[in-house]
Amino acid sequence: NGSTTLSLRLIPYSDNLWLLVARDVSRLLQLEQMRRDFVANVSHELRTPLTVIHGYLDMIDQDEHPGLTPMLGEMQHQSQRMTQLVEDLLTLSRLESQDRLAGEETVAMRSVLDTLRREALALSQSRHRISVEDSAMVDLFGSAKELHSAFSNLVSNAVRYTPAGGEVAIRFHAEGDGVALEVSDSGYGIPAAHLPRITERFYRVSTSRSRESGGTGLGLAIVKHILNLHQARLGISSEVGRGSTFSCHFGNARVRPREAGDSGASR
Ligand code: ADP
Repeated sequence: NGSTTLSLRLIPYSDNLWLLVARDVSRLLQLEQMRRDFVANVSHELRTPLTVIHGYLDMIDQDEHPGLTPMLGEMQHQSQRMTQLVEDLLTLSRLESQDRLAGEETVAMRSVLDTLRREALALSQSRHRISVEDSAMVDLFGSAKELHSAFSNLVSNAVRYTPAGGEVAIRFHAEGDGVALEVSDSGYGIPAAHLPRITERFYRVSTSRSRESGGTGLGLAIVKHILNLHQARLGISSEVGRGSTFSCHFGNARVRPREAGDSGASR
């Protein structure tokens, strides 16, 4: 719209002198916006053809073409992956284009934790020990849909990057003057050198393992955005061969007393 955005930096120069450096970042912001629009448009345009391909693949009766079964299975699998990728790209675009949340409410954490437990069990298919601990006794204020999506991504990673026989623990507990939701696993872990970049889009520690595990490479980028919109912080600690802990730290402003009669009781 023709306005100029300046980035200002104050740099100490000598005892009583400071330098004020002003940089015109309008063009940078404009390019960033173009990149976002482009990704959003491409993703949106890919949706319809993918739905058509997926639909027709589902209609092919595999019993009539026994020789094609492995190929049809692979085609279905790959088109599902592409659909998930497009959905994740659209989610990320939507999150990037908003700087505050619409429709915030008190989110009943008992039922969120219950859903997470069920999701973990379904993904794990009894290959892991899953535990849920709820000692915070409060609820969160925010977007129920986005918060669930963030926590769900962490739980899915914990299960996918932990070999059979391992453990996944979900804990919701008081911390400082706020609360934290923590997802720990006893899985592969992440080498320290990768940690600073792990929440970047498509950044992966091991491409082959991540592809096999069925992710899109956008999960943690989505988590980070959702937490930012809640002024929450993502903490990551990990040790190779021992496991990882991802914790979402929420300040006091996001904490609400828990209503006594909240359904979704945690068992
Ligand atoms: P992906 O779809 O590849 O899982 P994410 O953004 O969710 O994408 O995660 C990025 C990368 O971080 C993964 O590819 C994996 O290498 C690593 N990672 C994420 N969570 C875990 C975890 N719990 N244990 C080990 N590695 C993890």
